[in-house]
Amino acid sequence: MTAGHIDAMLRAGGEAIAATSPTAMLDARVLLKWAAGVGDAQLLTGAATVTKAARRRYQAAIARRRRGEPLAYITGRKEFYGRDFRVAPGVFVPRPETELLVAATLEAAAAIRGSAGARIVELGTGCGAVAITLALARPAWRITATDASAAARRIARINAAAHAAAVTITASDWLRGIAGRHTVIVANPPYIADNHPCINSDGIRHEPRAALTAGTDGMDDLAQIIAAAPRHLTAAGALIVEHGATQAAAVRELMRAASLARTATRRDLGGRDRVTVGFGA
Ligand code: GLN
Repeated sequence: MTAGHIDAMLRAGGEAIAATSPTAMLDARVLLKWAAGVGDAQLLTGAATVTKAARRRYQAAIARRRRGEPLAYITGRKEFYGRDFRVAPGVFVPRPETELLVAATLEAAAAIRGSAGARIVELGTGCGAVAITLALARPAWRITATDASAAARRIARINAAAHAAAVTITASDWLRGIAGRHTVIVANPPYIADNHPCINSDGIRHEPRAALTAGTDGMDDLAQIIAAAPRHLTAAGALIVEHGATQAAAVRELMRAASLARTATRRDLGGRDRVTVGFGA
């Protein structure tokens, strides 16, 4: 296979998905590397051997991407915090902005006395990226990760095993299935308003609705989690939640109403309010 052939495949693939994907050429390149099982260097130099089977895999992948499936569902992979995670259709794809949730959790825990052997629960773990990243950063923590979706729990278990992370994965509807008190409760719940147009856009429209939308203002699940959190936190334990850019004040207000103190909001790299922390009394 010459560099010219590869260029032609990339161009054809990129053109086929140009109307769907804002990053068409990049996506085509990712999908060709995935289909052919080669790296960037082999692709650039034309040293890659693109077999007939690989070409068919690539074309099928381009067809899926053209229908708006997220790249991560097609390759079955998504990077989070510098690590590779398995994802699959039916499971929410971790977003780069959620790396802030990990950083904020590590920071909040550092402010809690006796947090060295902390008990942590992550609600709605999806593929497990947040809980597993925390477990690898703080091996002494006892971490439970929950999800109401069996598909998510299955993928999270695969990821925990692949990264040798000690995370207990259980079924729970937010805090209802959680026993005992925890040093930290962390969650990236659904927070998009039910009728928000972004839900129908590229990629996201193939993701599970239950992981994305939460009532007319997107606050239903955040409100449930915040109201229940104090009963599940140790003294001075922390609740850390991700939320939408316009929801920070409402989240802090709900936290104060639930007697959580020292509330603070942090911005993501795009400068948008994204994560809020509150501490138990
Ligand atoms: N940040 C995600 C998005 O806009 C939404 C995540 C969520 O609802 N928890 O795609």
